[in-house]
Parts: sequence; structure tokens; C-alpha cells
Amino acid sequence: MSLAAQFSCHSDYDPESLSVHQASDFIRSQLTPVRTHERLALRSALGRVLASDVIAPCNVPAHDNSAMDGYALRHADLAGAGHTQLRIAGTALAGKPFAGSVGAGECVRIMTGALPPAGADTVVIQEEVRTDGDSVIIPPGQGRGQNIRRAGEDLAVGKPALAAGRLIRPAELGLIASLGCAEVSVYRRLRVAFLSTGDELCSIGTVLGDGEVYDSNRYTLFGMLSRMGCEVLDLGVVGDDPAAIEVAFCQAAAAADVVISSGGVSVGEADFVKDLMAQLGEVLFWKIAMKPGRPMAFGRIGAGGEGRGHDSATSAWLFGLPGNPVAVMVTFYQFVRDALYALMGADPLPVVPLLPAVCSVALKKVPGRSEFQRGVLTQSDGRWSVRPAGAQGSGILRSMSDANCFIVLEHDRAGVAVGDLVSVQLFDGLV
Ligand code: AMP
Ligand code: MG
Repeated sequence: MSLAAQFSCHSDYDPESLSVHQASDFIRSQLTPVRTHERLALRSALGRVLASDVIAPCNVPAHDNSAMDGYALRHADLAGAGHTQLRIAGTALAGKPFAGSVGAGECVRIMTGALPPAGADTVVIQEEVRTDGDSVIIPPGQGRGQNIRRAGEDLAVGKPALAAGRLIRPAELGLIASLGCAEVSVYRRLRVAFLSTGDELCSIGTVLGDGEVYDSNRYTLFGMLSRMGCEVLDLGVVGDDPAAIEVAFCQAAAAADVVISSGGVSVGEADFVKDLMAQLGEVLFWKIAMKPGRPMAFGRIGAGGEGRGHDSATSAWLFGLPGNPVAVMVTFYQFVRDALYALMGADPLPVVPLLPAVCSVALKKVPGRSEFQRGVLTQSDGRWSVRPAGAQGSGILRSMSDANCFIVLEHDRAGVAVGDLVSVQLFDGLV
């Protein structure tokens, strides 16, 4: 079934006014992860997605060990209600076990991470005991087995320690290392090609002509894609010329899993791009009920028009983002980011939570579209409050740079009064 036919099955599908949620659900419903796996040395796997479960080849911890600095003893030696005096028979350090065993009336000085000596079943923390020459006095109330970390209590041998789909962050690197694994199986990197369209665009390092603007979208896209660990393919600037765009798209579709263009999807420009994309595959042009970022195209294109065959090696998903620099970043974060993680095989998708904050400024807003204002979230008197980061025009990239969050004004919401709660989405952690 064609993309358009699938989407039009939904009763509320209106390409002229799609909500942010509808658009992202539609996109997600189409995507399946890349299938190719590769084995990598552990450090190289940072930012990748596990392609198969990591089964623990050993217990973590591998051996019982003391959770605290203190004294290892036989619980049976302790007097029920009163204090007990025990002779210190030696010391057990992490990596340097006590060679003997703990006899009746004895204990061993033990440090965190050290193996409990033979015979000892309990550790009493040093803060609770009183030393007296070569012996210690233990107060009552000690539980049998306390302060001992058990072999396998973190990760049990033979059990899945991490499931396929897990994004490998620093914690996962450490966890896999704690199992002694030097390599992991991950999905291959996603190949993402991007280009800017527009006759007015000028590349950095050259002199700006009359009516020209420097192309900044390829730089924000490069940054976002690189942070997501994608293999990027920069196809440069292409003029508003169907033949040139066709060449660029064919090249991109053959080389990449995903093609991201910016510009050329607004009314007027979209017409020739629409015809071109219809030739190369199947692309839906949407007006999304959002600000910024209204016009957007999504679909599949192929070098020889094979965009309809989803598994073809010569076709790619296409995101035709609007041209305005802020709109590029907003649509990337709201649609492309999740889509790329889904294609990378991430399961669950890394979420960027919406958190409540008090808005310190009144904001105008009409119901019927989602808005993503750029905000500055600050803390004072233990309370988080947010205000817009300067002028909010969709071309004013400074608002993204000065901001540390989006103020997300939901579809049905009307204006915001001073002191109202709004949802914010922190930039840190987005990619
Ligand atoms: P468009 O969506 O092509 O109509 O572009 C909307 C606005 O964004 C216009 O003012 C363009 O000049 C600007 N724009 C488009 N592409 C870029 C780009 N790559 N870098 C900076 N500004 C751009
Ligand atoms: Mg343009």
C-alpha cells in the first residue's frame, strides 16, 4: 500500500493540518531498524545500539565481598543481647585476601571489596566497634550476612545483562567492561546525507553576494547528526533548480539510509520539488500545526524512482525540512531525532522528558497548533522558572543558542499568564 493510502486510512489525516503527534506517529509507524550488525571493540561502541543481548559470561561481582570497611566475623560468635569481644586475627584487603580462616572468638579487619575470609559470614562497620588492643568490642544488634555483597547480585552469570536495542552510553560501556567483554555486537552506523536548497545560499568561506545568506543549516544538521553518532554525508548547497536537486537526491538516495534537505518545501517552491519527488519515489507534503516548522515533507526516494520499494539498497527515507534555521532544528528534534534512533535500532527510544516549570512571562498563543518557543530555564529560591530566550522569529538562530530548553506549548493550549506552569524540554540530552 502506498504511503499516502496508509496515512489516509486514519480518519483524522489531513495533510494540510497535521498535529505534531500525528506526524511523528505516522513517521514512526513506517520505520524499521537497519539490519546489518558489526562487532566492535568496546570503546568504539559508545553511542551505538546493541544488536544482540549481552549475556553475562560471569557473575558481577564475581565473588562475595565486603560492602564496607569494618570487621568480618562469625555471626554465631555474637552474644545475643550484650557486647562481644573478638580477637583481630589479621587483615583482608581488596585484591589481597586473608589467607587463614576466622576461628571461634576471632574476627578479621576487612576493607571494602575484600573477600570475606573463610568462616566469616558477617561484616560489622568500623564506626560501630570499639578497638581494645588487638581485639574489638562489637555491640549487639548485628544481622547475619550484613554488609556483604553477594556474587552475582549485580549481574548473574548466564542471564541477559543488557537487551538488544539498548543505546550504549558511558554506563553501558562500564557495565559491559565489568563483565570482562572486550567486544560487542552493534547495529551499523546510520548513513545520513544532507543538503541545503536555495538560490540565495552562500557557503562559508566565500564572499556574500547581494541578497545572499550564508548557509547555516548544514552546520546545525552536521552537529545534531554527529552527536547522534550518524555517518554524515554533506552534499552541499543546491540551487532552486529541479535538475540539480534531482541529481543531488539520486546521489543521496544511493549512498544513504536517510536524506535530509532544508528549504524548498514552502508554498510556491514546493510545487516543483513535489513533482520531482513524485518521480523519485513517494513523498508526502505536510503542513504541520506547529510553530516554527510548518511545511515539511516525508517519504522515500530512490535513484531510479524505486522509493516505493522500502528495502531497496538504492532508496532512502527523505525528510524535507523547512528552510528557516530555527525551524530546521525544531523539526529535527521533534521528528527526525526519534526517527533516526528508531532506524538505529534503539529500543526503547531515548526520551527527552517534558518537565513542568513556572513561566515568568506572559506568552501569546492560539489553540490549534503546537509551539516550541526557545526558553531560558533558571532556578531561584529552589524553584525552576522559564522565560523566552529573546526574539522568537524562526530565522533567529540566536534564540536557539541563548536558550537551554524548549517551552512546549501544547496543541490545544491558549496563552500563558505570568506564573502559569508550562512544559519545558531541556536541550541537554537531546542528542
Ligand atoms: P525556504 O523554506 O526555502 O522558503 O526558506 C525560508 C527562509 O530560510 C529563507 O529566508 C531562506 O533564506 C532561509 N534559509 C533557507 N535555507 C537556509 C540555510 N541553509 N541557511 C540559512 N538560511 C536558510
Ligand atoms: Mg528556499
